[in-house]
Amino acid sequence: MKEVIFASGNKGKISEVIKIFGGSEFKIISLYDLGYVPDIIEDGETFEDNAKIKAEFIFKKYGKPVIADDSGLVVEQLNGEPGVYSARYAGENCTYDDNNKKLLKALEGFKEPHIAKFVCCAVYLDQSSYICEMGEVDGSIISDIRGNHGFGYDPIFLPEGFDKTLAEIDIDLKNSISHRARAFNKLRSRLVK
Ligand code: IMP
Repeated sequence: MKEVIFASGNKGKISEVIKIFGGSEFKIISLYDLGYVPDIIEDGETFEDNAKIKAEFIFKKYGKPVIADDSGLVVEQLNGEPGVYSARYAGENCTYDDNNKKLLKALEGFKEPHIAKFVCCAVYLDQSSYICEMGEVDGSIISDIRGNHGFGYDPIFLPEGFDKTLAEIDIDLKNSISHRARAFNKLRSRLVK
């Protein structure tokens, strides 16, 4: 088996990525397995910059192959906001609910539909190679907050072709259509021979 460290402290993402690489020669090692879950400063201008920052940080410490990702919500009428600022849109230490409320406020005055997409960049880094793959899920922002599953902007995001928000649909279904699943499945296809 080839060991690859996944540079994320998000347990939901870790189980999603372990499932995606299941049945391959890659064994995903989490930061929890290593007993080191640093708060890495993500100050890049793009999703790729931030994913690369996380991968390089962990690669420098362990010198082993690393995968990392960065993701967020891109809203057309807001010129791509909140984008790379998705986690801290309503300020440092804000809650998911604060972000959702700020976004709905920002969209007041704009006509529906509020076209949006989730974007994820997944990267692989080792001594001699760097690979980057993107995944997206299209949809729109609705003006009420619906559902209890998932996290982040899920309760206000209606994926295209569904009449439920990402927080209302089954978590396994969400994980099968998500921007992250798309990016990591592409990365898997590049890595697994
Ligand atoms: P990161 O990839 O963990 O840095 O994600 C940044 C932020 O994007 C999260 O804190 C969420 O606000 C948002 N986000 C990323 N993926 C999702 C998702 O699948 N659902 C809802 N929000 C998401």
